[in-house]
Amino acid sequence: MAVMRNFLLWCSDNPTLRNKVPQMSFVQRALKRFMPGEEIDDAITASKEFFNIGIPAVLTRLGEDLQNLSEADEVTNHYLSVIDKIAEENLDIEISLKLTQLGLSLSQEKTFENFDKIAERAEKLNNIVWIDMEGSKYTKKTIEFYKRIKSKRSYIGLCLQSYLFSSHKDLNDLLEVTPNIRLVKGAYNEPHDIALRDKFRVDENYLDLSRKMLEASNKDGNRMVFGTHDLKLIKAIKKEADILNYPQSKLEFHMLYGIKLNAQKQLVEEGHIVRTLISYGKLWYPWYMRRLAERPANVMFVLKNMFSK
Ligand SMILES: Cc1cc2nc3c(=O)[nH]c(=O)nc-3n(C[C@H](O)[C@H](O)[C@H](O)COP(=O)(O)OP(=O)(O)OC[C@H]3O[C@@H](n4cnc5c(N)ncnc54)[C@H](O)[C@@H]3O)c2cc1C
Repeated sequence: MAVMRNFLLWCSDNPTLRNKVPQMSFVQRALKRFMPGEEIDDAITASKEFFNIGIPAVLTRLGEDLQNLSEADEVTNHYLSVIDKIAEENLDIEISLKLTQLGLSLSQEKTFENFDKIAERAEKLNNIVWIDMEGSKYTKKTIEFYKRIKSKRSYIGLCLQSYLFSSHKDLNDLLEVTPNIRLVKGAYNEPHDIALRDKFRVDENYLDLSRKMLEASNKDGNRMVFGTHDLKLIKAIKKEADILNYPQSKLEFHMLYGIKLNAQKQLVEEGHIVRTLISYGKLWYPWYMRRLAERPANVMFVLKNMFSK
C-alpha cells in the first residue's frame, strides 16, 4: 500500500505525466467523481445543490507552483470575480487557495499584495479566505505569511497537517494570533525526518492537535475545523468535545466533494456544521494524483473507466 502511495505521489510531481495524463479520456471520465467540472460555473452549480441539502461549500481553483507572476495576477483576478459572484447571488460559499497560486515561490511581497486584495474583498462580505497547506518546502513560509496577514485581516483561515512533527509547535505559536484552523492529515510525499508515515501515529497526532484546537476555540471563539473523512477520528473528536464542554453544534467538519457523502449528511442531521470542498479548474493533475494516493483502490476505479464510454 505504501509503495503504491509513494508511486502515485511521485507521479503527481512528474512533468511528463503532468502533460500527458490529463489528455486521456478515461482519466477525464474518472475525474468526475471528485470534481463536478473544470469551470467555476460547474462548481457553483454543485455548491447550490449541496447547499440545498444543508451543506454549504468551500471552493478552490486548482493550480499550484506557478512559473511567472502574470499567472498569479490572473488567479487573483479570478478569485476577486468569484467573490463578486458569491455576493451578487448571495451564496453561502467560502474560498480556499494555495499561496503558490498567488506567487509564493517567486515573490513573497507580490503574494502578500495579491492575497490582501482577495482578503479585503472577502472581508467586506464577512467571508473567510482559507489558505491550503502545501508541501513542506512551503510550510514555514506559509505560517509566517499567515501571521503577517492575520495582523491586517482577521477573518483568514489556515490549514495545518497532522503528519508533520512541527505542527504542535506551529499550532502553539499560531494560537497567539487567534487563528482559524482547518486540520488535515496531509497529502504530500514528505521525508521520514519531518513527517510521520505510519497511519496510526498520524491519526494519534491528529487527535492530540484536535484537543488543543477545541480548548483554544472554547476560549477565543475562533473557527476550528476538522478536514477529514476518517469516521473513527470524527467519533473521537465528538467525544473529546463532550469532555471539554465544547458544544456539538459548533463542531465543524469539512470533507471533499465526492467522498463520504452519506457521512456528510449524517453529520448535518446530528447538528454539526459541515462544508464540502469543491475543486474546479484545468490544472487538476497533481491534485487528482494525491486523491488517488490517499486511497490506492481509487486506481481500480480509474482503470474501470478505460473500458466504459
Ligand atoms: C476539506 C479538506 C481540505 C484539505 N486541504 C488540504 C491541504 O490544504 N493540504 C493537504 O496537505 N491536504 C489537504 N487535504 C487532504 C488531507 O490531507 C488528506 O490527504 C485527505 O483528507 C485524506 O485523509 P483523511 O483524513 O480523510 O483520512 P484517511 O485515513 O486517508 O481516510 C479515511 C477514509 O476516508 C475515505 N477516503 C479518504 N480519502 C479518500 C479518497 N481520496 N478517495 C476515496 N475515499 C477516501 C476512505 O474511506 C478512508 O478509509 C484536505 C482534506 C480535506 C477533507
